[in-house]
Amino acid sequence: MRAYNFCAGPASLPTAVLEKAQAEMLDWQGKGVSVMEISHRSKDYMAVAEKAEADLRKLMNISDDYAVLFLQGGASLQFSAVALNLLGKNNKADYIHTGIWSEKAYKEAQRYGEINVIDALKQQDGQFRISPQSEWQLSNDACYVHYADNETIGGLQFSEIPDTDKPLVSDFSSSILSAPLDVSRFGLIYAGAQKNIGPAGLTIAIVRKDLLDQAQSITPNVLRYSEQAKNGSMLNTPATYSWYLAGLVFEWLLAQGGVEAIHAINQQKAQLLYDYIDQSGFYHNPIAKPNRSLMNVPFTLADESLEKTFLAEAEQRHLLNLAGHRSVGGMRASIYNAIPLEGVQALVSFMQDFAKKHG
Ligand SMILES: *Cc1c(COP(=O)(O)O)cnc(C)c1O
Repeated sequence: MRAYNFCAGPASLPTAVLEKAQAEMLDWQGKGVSVMEISHRSKDYMAVAEKAEADLRKLMNISDDYAVLFLQGGASLQFSAVALNLLGKNNKADYIHTGIWSEKAYKEAQRYGEINVIDALKQQDGQFRISPQSEWQLSNDACYVHYADNETIGGLQFSEIPDTDKPLVSDFSSSILSAPLDVSRFGLIYAGAQKNIGPAGLTIAIVRKDLLDQAQSITPNVLRYSEQAKNGSMLNTPATYSWYLAGLVFEWLLAQGGVEAIHAINQQKAQLLYDYIDQSGFYHNPIAKPNRSLMNVPFTLADESLEKTFLAEAEQRHLLNLAGHRSVGGMRASIYNAIPLEGVQALVSFMQDFAKKHG
């Protein structure tokens, strides 16, 4: 049987997608080969690549003003790519710091330019929150403003898109496709695939076309958005199998009714889990309500010494990978698009039983 897998990444994929991939593994579309055994430049593969891009554009309502790139190196390589590509004018950028991922992003950018870090992670009455934009010291001459929409480890998410006249750049690795998004507000959106898109190895960058040509001269060709856009993300061999699987996930999402339909389910899932945690008296989530993540729900137990028992008993109920990130401890349930409502119901039911038994 398939377990409910709450791993933060690489994360659960829809069972229907894996079944389709399995059925096509040895003999893809009657060609007698796997899709991962053919040239990325073949007509057959180009059709896969183009369909995936078209479906992603449909799902996110991405206009022709944007290039959609299928890259490698993860979101972590984008931390460098963003700076190398966009710091061109005066080498200055603003970075909003709200947790571990946005910190990694600005630390990487600091290699290439003058980075104004805005510390927007606030602790107040024992709760974490993102400070309102009115309290940020944004600079007048930044090439762009960077933030991480959802801090996957902290479980902290922006409740609204920051408002700026500078190109807005955001790491959406753990929140892309989880809720409707107005792409036109952004200069650049990037996301590693392994949370809400597909398997690891693929990274999506959605780049406004007027930003394509500002790269610093030292920027490697494969990191240049302009070169990748010109070459259909095939400057070199792309992650063909991950790209194909991402395409299957996009088809699955469209069949579910698209991002709005999955968002409604995501809201139900998150509300069920947070409501239970809040009223349990046994579990605790440290994030202020407006900034609670829709996708990653960290929580602690009333008695820390019960953590190992909690994980072991959860595993017996086929509820997997609930340990928090190694840097922060505690528990974390990642409830990405591929986790159905039934998965969260099963988790809450287990948490109730566990609290009753050990509380
Ligand atoms: C997972 C994650 C990353 C890192 O992604 P890699 O693909 O491992 O580089 C960066 N940012 C956020 C918000 C993430 O969730």
